[in-house]
Amino acid sequence: MNNKLNWIDKDTSELKEKGLFKNIKTIESAIDAEIIIDGKKLLNFCSNNYLGFANKEELKKSAIKAIEKYGVGPAAVRTISGTLDLHIKLEKELAKFKKVDAAILFQSGLCANLATIPVLVRPEDVIFSDELNHASIIDGCRLSKAKVIVYKHADPKDLEEKIKENLNFERKLVITDGVFSMDGDIAPLDKIYEVSEKYNCMLMVDDAHGEGVLGKSGRGIVDYFNLHGKVDAEVGTLSKAIGVIGGFVAGKKGIIEILRQKARPFLFSTAMTPADTQAVIEAVNILEKSDEPVKKLWENAKYFKEKMKKLGFDIGSSQTPITPVMLGDAKLAGEFSKKLFEEGVFAVALGYPTVPMGKARIRVMISAVHKKEHLDKALGVFEKVGKQLGVIS
Ligand code: PMP
Repeated sequence: MNNKLNWIDKDTSELKEKGLFKNIKTIESAIDAEIIIDGKKLLNFCSNNYLGFANKEELKKSAIKAIEKYGVGPAAVRTISGTLDLHIKLEKELAKFKKVDAAILFQSGLCANLATIPVLVRPEDVIFSDELNHASIIDGCRLSKAKVIVYKHADPKDLEEKIKENLNFERKLVITDGVFSMDGDIAPLDKIYEVSEKYNCMLMVDDAHGEGVLGKSGRGIVDYFNLHGKVDAEVGTLSKAIGVIGGFVAGKKGIIEILRQKARPFLFSTAMTPADTQAVIEAVNILEKSDEPVKKLWENAKYFKEKMKKLGFDIGSSQTPITPVMLGDAKLAGEFSKKLFEEGVFAVALGYPTVPMGKARIRVMISAVHKKEHLDKALGVFEKVGKQLGVIS
């Protein structure tokens, strides 16, 4: 490689030495309880396909119908000529589902965070951000150029201390993940709301892993804590429990309106395709009608987590279907995942920078599509590999 790019080899070797180099697997099938990788059928325990919507018949049919009517792409950004009636319909349905004034779509959850934070705060303002917030929140904070003050994870007392030391800002914004994606714990949003209100801070929650999981029919963390009308902006993703792709912000009317005027990904990047949009409308309709998929998800999660604990695994502090199998060392986690794969279970190892250094893990994602025999088979494989590698006795 020529001189100016020599750093790439050096960086790559460093990643490999630390066990942080990612070997990305290619999936050759639909995302379901079973998937195919390298021609081999595996049990899938690492998709965010909480409700099994990624390959659900009703969603597929809706997407196909939308393509037949609208074609495959909107061909312009929303503010020029890319706003379809489908986008407006979905925004209205999401607002109704989340019980808020209004909603606005973005291209992804990540995009929704990057879009929203720089509209809510300016360089002269302040953000209070949980220390374990998702990377897209961190990047959104950076884009805003506001002062960022990090408070201790899920700690409203520390948040209050930090706010008290920084009262002299015109706009103050508190941001937290709803469900923390790597640990599966739930933010104490009720307490965080109280503190935010007391000091006149705006409150934004990223509910990427709460949607389809928490609250009635998966309405999310705001419903779970019965905080309707109290949170200023709820960021959501349509790529996890909803099974498709896209992001949105649901919240107070004024916030949604100003995002339509100012959010850069809305102004400068083309929106969700007709197929995606219609599939999400179908998903929301399914959840409006029934909470069966959500109930099944929790039933599976409870079963799997209890058995893993009995086997002696450390599954951290998860309160949700996210099940982190804590291993610490990144190389051990990599080896563990490799052995799971050989035994027919797909669950990848996550290391730095996705999780803090020294806190590598296998993150098991439970889904409503898992049948009992899938869960039992995976438990048997975890037991075997755990014993082989000395993680459990
Ligand atoms: N926020 C959180 C908390 C997430 O876990 C994720 C997905 N990793 C995102 C945002 C980004 O969502 P999307 O994949 O739709 O961009």
